[in-house]
Amino acid sequence: MSNKSQEEHEVYDAIVVGAGFAGLCMLHRLKTVGLSVKSFEVGTGVGGTWYWNRYPGARCDVESWEYSYGFSEELEQEWNWSERYAAQPEILSYLEHVAERFDLYDCIDFNTRVKSATFDESETKWVIQTDQSEKRFTSKYCIMATGCLSSANIPKIEGFSDYQGESFHTGNWPKEKIDFSKKKVGIIGTGSSSIQATPIVASQAEQLFVFQRTPNWSVPARNAPMPASELDKIKASYQSLRREQRKLPLAAQRPPNRASALEVNAEQRKEAYENYWEIGGLSFLGAFKDIATNPEANETAKKFLTRKIEETVLDKDLVKKLIPDHYLGCKRPCSDTGYYATFNRKNVTLVDSRDEPIVRLSKDGIVSAKKEYRLDSIIFATGFDAMTGSLDKIDIRGRNNLTLTKKWEAGPKTYLGLGTAGFPNFFVIAGPGSPSVLANMVVGIEQHVDWIGDCIQYLEDNDKKQIDPDPSAESEWVEHVNEVASRTLYTGCNNWYLGANIPGKPRVFMPYIGGFPKYVRKCEQVVEDGYVGFNIS
Ligand code: FAD
Ligand code: NAP
Repeated sequence: MSNKSQEEHEVYDAIVVGAGFAGLCMLHRLKTVGLSVKSFEVGTGVGGTWYWNRYPGARCDVESWEYSYGFSEELEQEWNWSERYAAQPEILSYLEHVAERFDLYDCIDFNTRVKSATFDESETKWVIQTDQSEKRFTSKYCIMATGCLSSANIPKIEGFSDYQGESFHTGNWPKEKIDFSKKKVGIIGTGSSSIQATPIVASQAEQLFVFQRTPNWSVPARNAPMPASELDKIKASYQSLRREQRKLPLAAQRPPNRASALEVNAEQRKEAYENYWEIGGLSFLGAFKDIATNPEANETAKKFLTRKIEETVLDKDLVKKLIPDHYLGCKRPCSDTGYYATFNRKNVTLVDSRDEPIVRLSKDGIVSAKKEYRLDSIIFATGFDAMTGSLDKIDIRGRNNLTLTKKWEAGPKTYLGLGTAGFPNFFVIAGPGSPSVLANMVVGIEQHVDWIGDCIQYLEDNDKKQIDPDPSAESEWVEHVNEVASRTLYTGCNNWYLGANIPGKPRVFMPYIGGFPKYVRKCEQVVEDGYVGFNIS
């Protein structure tokens, strides 16, 4: 429980903002070490991504068992995954179960947005204020578990306020079931969210118009019910499976092929691609070791996927429009169930911005350069202000009243993605500079939580007041993150890793792409060397 001071503000050891996978795990960890903790969450329940993204078809694209916590063997044994890739309601139930089972609900204030977090240098504490009252909450540690895909991007399209029909954003979907039957629907965007929603909306709607600005690469997920025998096998070896998982660059999926796409003959290459195509989903990226780095190797993967689209989509003119120009992987690839076949349906029309870009919204729908599409519903599958969006919405002030937005004005700067110089005792989970968004995020999140938990324990055990990244260590890490990214093909298109989906955002590659195992080793080394790169006082 908190202490109540004379001024009636609440005092905690730590405050955690957000109650998704990261926030819940952090709360559990801090409670376990005996700290008093408080959490704030905008939503009315736990779940984060899985609370907000209730659109039809939403499911994970990392296998269910892999996309789950490893911190409790009891939890692993008692939870049964029903599908290879769990759907949103099941992942949300899992997180609700976690919150219940580990007694986390008591610490969380729902329906509460953190407005500001200010570091009080004289007292070495964070002062947090929310949108619910004037009350101040103070804590020694402030941990942002605000999510990297949690700030929905609604593009500024002319005439937005003129539109009078219903509209939805995939990342802020209503709780009640939305029925699109007998409706004319427009979906804007063709990223992962749209690729999951489109086949289902198409099966309900009278007419669906898919507004595509840039096509993306997608591989069938091959989702299926989880056979009981398979689940038993996983449960019997969860911990060893997790140890293997942590050795993989993406902390998930099938082990990548170590061969180069250019070292093998055409037949061997086709065989490898067919194997990974059959496995399905994001594992396809691991068909050869150089898909992400060598343009020629990448071209071979693109050719293979192009043929698959050609085999599926009947209208040859449409095929051309659905084939992306960018390197496979540059925009985060998608994992689908029947996406391309959806374009064979009579009630589905692709509106390609290369022929007819969206010009504005009207009272009745969307106006392209060629015509007006009269719609009952518009679905914005337009993504997120990724990695920094939710942090930018909070007035975060460190030493000398420096705001985080000012410090990050030319792009985010962190040391290991965990902290940022000038903001003592302030941690970010899965923030810019961390590899999490390029890997299985739950494994990344648990690694961050363990590191932060151990660090706080160390500070407490050794009566330390504060920890703060050293500016030079931070600069070196930012440089390293950029240098590693520049060796890949991932900087050459407009993706959200670069902030290029948000007009005006600095174009800086935000996640660390050196692979999860290398990152973990670096974090361990920092601790072994006495928190090298951090200033502790
Ligand atoms: P979130 O789940 O985003 O939670 C952050 C929480 O913080 C939110 O609930 C938000 O309301 C709250 N918050 C933010 N600002 C404030 C504030 N100021 N005050 C109070 N609360 C605040 N990753 C994978 O690895 N595999 C997948 O298959 C996968 N599928 C995905 C599918 C979708 C549709 C999306 C959008 C993302 C997916 N991701 C996936 C990424 C996913 O975001 C992470 O896996 C993970 O759920 C992130 O957890 P988190 O707790 O860090 O953030
Ligand atoms: P996204 O990948 O950023 O896709 C957004 C789409 O909207 C893009 O096609 C984009 O086109 C389009 N768009 C944006 N602004 C537009 C505008 N003004 N006019 C026209 N089109 C516009 O977002 P997302 O699909 O929500 O996915 C975000 C991330 O969440 C994914 O990359 C993934 O990490 C995660 N996710 C995972 C799953 C899963 O399978 N488990 C599902 C959903 C999301 P451009 O490409 O031209 O910018």
